Amino acid sequence: MSYPERIIDIHTHIFNLKYLPIKGVMISRGINPTLAAGIEKILIALTGNYLNYNRYNISKFINLQDPNFEKDLFNFSMDDLVKDIGFKTTLETFESIQVQKALLHFAREKKVIEFFETENIDNLSENHEFLNIRLPYIISSFVRHVFETIEDGLNYLRWFLFMTLGEEKIIERMKNSYPSVQTFVFHMIDADWFFERNFSTYNIDQMLNNMSYLQEVNSELVGFAPYNPMRGTTGLRKIFDLIKMKKFRGIKFYPPLGYKPVNNSNFELNNLNYELFDLCLEHEIPIFTHCTPTGFEAIPHKSGLNSDPEFWEELLNQPKYARLKVCFGHAGGEDGWFAEYTPEDENLFPPKTEKNFYAELVYKLCINYENVFCEVGFLEHQQHKNGIANMQNRLEEIFRIDESGENKYEFRNKVIYGSDWHILFNHGLELNYINPYIKLFTESEILKKYSDRFFYKNAEIFLSNQFIEDSPI
Ligand SMILES: [Zn+2]
Repeated sequence: MSYPERIIDIHTHIFNLKYLPIKGVMISRGINPTLAAGIEKILIALTGNYLNYNRYNISKFINLQDPNFEKDLFNFSMDDLVKDIGFKTTLETFESIQVQKALLHFAREKKVIEFFETENIDNLSENHEFLNIRLPYIISSFVRHVFETIEDGLNYLRWFLFMTLGEEKIIERMKNSYPSVQTFVFHMIDADWFFERNFSTYNIDQMLNNMSYLQEVNSELVGFAPYNPMRGTTGLRKIFDLIKMKKFRGIKFYPPLGYKPVNNSNFELNNLNYELFDLCLEHEIPIFTHCTPTGFEAIPHKSGLNSDPEFWEELLNQPKYARLKVCFGHAGGEDGWFAEYTPEDENLFPPKTEKNFYAELVYKLCINYENVFCEVGFLEHQQHKNGIANMQNRLEEIFRIDESGENKYEFRNKVIYGSDWHILFNHGLELNYINPYIKLFTESEILKKYSDRFFYKNAEIFLSNQFIEDSPI
């Protein structure tokens, strides 16, 4: 296996727990709001406020320098992790109103006698037996209960604990895990407005400042600023100015939060979107949009559908916006790309179902519009038995069609490597996400001709904007 000469990962995340509306995310996964608020408080208390923070000391479990770090992370059981959280939770956290309420709710429901025996919490600091034995036990059974209730709970817990690290530590890990990648494009989401958040550790200005600073001190990083239509024109101008000042490269658009590019029932929101699209068009600013029917949905099982590429098609169909630079994250979802396919099949994509119907339209938009791109992050290839083989057959056929000149714009000039690191942790996808793609693009006779396009050239074109024209990366 040989590596391409250069690799850009166009889809990564370097945020930690402070940027995530944990409470809202837990509620959207079916957890009672009182319990969700308690979990948020406990986890945020383990996170701390410094960019290089490491107090929670996930390194008790994991050596951050170890190249197999993710593998180790995924070896830990629910028992190991909840026990550790129990022992790391301080009296101060325990005494917070959110945690008290959550524990009471949990204890009543589960009849945890130990909790009710604590009668007077004011004197707890002197009650060593409670602090050393019962408190860690109560906290850990509470955390276990919550994470056992949600789907993929153990992976979520592992992912959350990873995100207790400071941002600088997270970046260090990303670089150690992917030494062959020269540039990491990271994306931010400004989500608090859409999820109920108990308390905010960071405001948007601090987040943007931190992320600009981290790009200054890490030449490998390129950032996409979060678009949040709820912040109105002022918010839009703020992120546009940062792009103009070369602090960020493009815009992250995240429909599962509850908005879409066109046809929102909120008329002002539609207008603001057009203001965004006009700015992006004028200055060739790239937009990266989430494109699967799921994700961090503000309205569970519903708002993910805002990611449907048909809304973008409606926009691109308007001659004025036909040249807008848009990249569809996750290629529309793995269900379309990994479905059974052999070259004998008449159709490139499987018949439409609720789960897979984005992939085909993403492909069509790529070959019909000059500046539409597609990124392959978060395709669950490690868990999909024949998925990657089906994808290979499908891509080979598509590249053959490209070569025949049938496609208006060639897909091989549009498809871009991305991983969705570290969000891929919440699905239990660990180390070496890139390897199956390296294999695909070095072993397949057709694909390997375009390996440089997939791993960096297409990304360079997508990432350029009017302000950084001379040196795209
Ligand atoms: Zn992502």
